Amino acid sequence: MKYKNIIEHGDKSGNNMVVRFRLPSGLDIFGLPTQNFYSGNWDLGPTWNYLVMSDTPFLVDAGRYGQGGQLLKMMNTAGVAPSDLGFVLISHGHEDHDGGLAELVAMTSLKVRAHGIYDLLIRQYPQLAPADHKRHFPAKCWHCFMPESFYTVNCLEYHRMLQHIEVEVVGSGVNSLGAGIVTSHLPGHSPDCLAVILGEEAIIVGDILLPQITPWPTRLEMYGGIAGVLEHDFPNAADIFGLQRYLQSLGELRRLGMTHPDMRVLPAHRFYYGGQWNVVNLTERIDELIGHHVERCAAILDIVSHGHGRVEEIVQRHFDPSLLQGPGKHMATNEILSHCELLVDRGDLVEIGRHQYETSGTRRFQTLISE
Ligand SMILES: [Zn+2]
Ligand SMILES: [Zn+2]
Repeated sequence: MKYKNIIEHGDKSGNNMVVRFRLPSGLDIFGLPTQNFYSGNWDLGPTWNYLVMSDTPFLVDAGRYGQGGQLLKMMNTAGVAPSDLGFVLISHGHEDHDGGLAELVAMTSLKVRAHGIYDLLIRQYPQLAPADHKRHFPAKCWHCFMPESFYTVNCLEYHRMLQHIEVEVVGSGVNSLGAGIVTSHLPGHSPDCLAVILGEEAIIVGDILLPQITPWPTRLEMYGGIAGVLEHDFPNAADIFGLQRYLQSLGELRRLGMTHPDMRVLPAHRFYYGGQWNVVNLTERIDELIGHHVERCAAILDIVSHGHGRVEEIVQRHFDPSLLQGPGKHMATNEILSHCELLVDRGDLVEIGRHQYETSGTRRFQTLISE
């Protein structure tokens, strides 16, 4: 029995391919990668949405804004009608995963499931919004680090449509989606990240881990701005935000990979890219990612110990200038700050002013490797 069967070919990045994956138990999953429009150094490739053909078939993710209709066409190619589906599950609230959701729901009346944090963050809270220009945006983008010139043009309509979506809430921890299929809440890349574990055979990981790309971590600091929305149900920032939590999530997945070494990984980006498949081994990829973050911590301590303790200085010294163009600069700053938070938490850095640091002389972050 062949694991992978290409039903429709796409382009070199995998855009608009339709692929059937047949697991040893006979469970079919269709990969439906819809196009993204980010480009240059930040090209993620398409978003891989998945159709899981379990007893109650369901879709995971809905592509980015404008891709809902395309997704329906691809489902049709796979031979699946929307009425066959029980629900669509959102892996996390980033626009490249839930952008097409409102459109899809409007066309099909599909039910939506997502983590409780997602349900809270897609709503508007005019009294709690941090600044006037964010009043019409839902809580999930109050902490977005993209400049106003970007989000007012690109995001407003998408958020407006989503605010009215009804969500069946998936809880934290591990929850059943049906026979042998569970979700696991693994926050850190975003506070609402869910992985879907299909028995002992496969895992749909969303953006929690990706081939070729290092998923960016959130920062504890991001909780501050939306605490008013979350604190009732999620009172601790460190339970859902930050690099430390992200690494803990990777640790949980690593244990799963150790127990089930043959588990197939279905990632949300770069599964197929540059005309090639990127097969991911859960444990190996997680070790690479943890190694990457440990190295970055070491590099930051090195820069700060030479007297360059302001975040802007660390960013400039750490990244190649080509990566700091346009939105790259915001992403790089976020990346450095998430590591600085972890280093402060461990006692390796001391924050002496806002986003300004000194080294303490310890290197406790190194224990990350063994945790
Ligand atoms: Zn994401
Ligand atoms: Zn993504």
